[in-house]
Amino acid sequence: MPESIPASCRVPAFVGNKKIQFIEKPVPKPGEGQLLLRVHANALCGSERPQFFDGTTTTPGHEGAGTVVAVGPGTKTKVGTCGVVFLMDFCGQCRSCRLGFTNQCLQKRGDMGFNRDGGYGQYELIHERIFFPVPDEFTATEGTLLLDIMGTGGHAIERCQMIRPDIESLLVLGAGPIGLGVLAMARIILGKQVKVFLTDIVPYRLKMAEQLGGLPVNVSKNTLSEGLKTHGVDRVDMAVDTTGKQTARQDGLNALAQRGSLICVGHGEGITMKISPDIIAPERSVVGSEYFRYDELPANLRRLQQNRSYLNQIITHRFSVDEIQKSFELFFAGETGKVIIEQ
Ligand SMILES: [Zn+2]
Ligand SMILES: [Zn+2]
Repeated sequence: MPESIPASCRVPAFVGNKKIQFIEKPVPKPGEGQLLLRVHANALCGSERPQFFDGTTTTPGHEGAGTVVAVGPGTKTKVGTCGVVFLMDFCGQCRSCRLGFTNQCLQKRGDMGFNRDGGYGQYELIHERIFFPVPDEFTATEGTLLLDIMGTGGHAIERCQMIRPDIESLLVLGAGPIGLGVLAMARIILGKQVKVFLTDIVPYRLKMAEQLGGLPVNVSKNTLSEGLKTHGVDRVDMAVDTTGKQTARQDGLNALAQRGSLICVGHGEGITMKISPDIIAPERSVVGSEYFRYDELPANLRRLQQNRSYLNQIITHRFSVDEIQKSFELFFAGETGKVIIEQ
């Protein structure tokens, strides 16, 4: 028996100044092309910092997984199907979407958890197009790995591969959850023979990076170049910045070998460069990598099946929604991997 859907439910409200309270919100009904999910898991993300610190009237949560409990007209998904929610409510019809660049939709309707109510509520209303079914063998919590960890991490690796076919070493700046996702997807997609260096200043994170097969560089103790030298390396083939910090980006660019590229994943600060020596002569580049394309999900589901226990190590904490305040405080204190709210 499917559970009955209430008219309203209790959802966390991010009121600002690092405070989360609970309010009652109506449970929406799915319209044309829409699904209503009962959310069972949603992962915390560093990009929620402004919502936690400054507050928002939207219910946050953009890494949600759940079960379809009601469907609108014109949909094909069956009630009871489990799956995950793609962040960007893409149109499916514009020039970008038609070519599969759904992370670059020209008529995007919204971003779940940012300007559409997201996955920290019990129920989430989405367009069917952004739902990706996941087999029942996976828990909702495991399903969330398909989003920012495997999706964003894997897309950054795809951007690297687009630029050079012969990647032997990769530098990942920042060993937070996205950095760990880039590391894991580098190991899975490029292979274990590729050396992956990870920088951070938090020993907990560097330890996690090492457990996942990365080579840690503590940049609070050494410069990046000194740290790379201790691993016997002067320069790297490619670099991925997940920190959004100018100093890290600058370090990453300086560490690149000829034909190398700095892939920027973390939003934030800028970078300065001299075009002739930094870019033209060594044929280096600086490239953006934004979230991922919806059509990357099927391959990542197969990778999750094949690397299930390895990837599960990235999830370090699980909390009930009643503990959401505590979970955000812990997450932003920096000593966690991925933190999941389960309900
Ligand atoms: Zn995120
Ligand atoms: Zn579109």
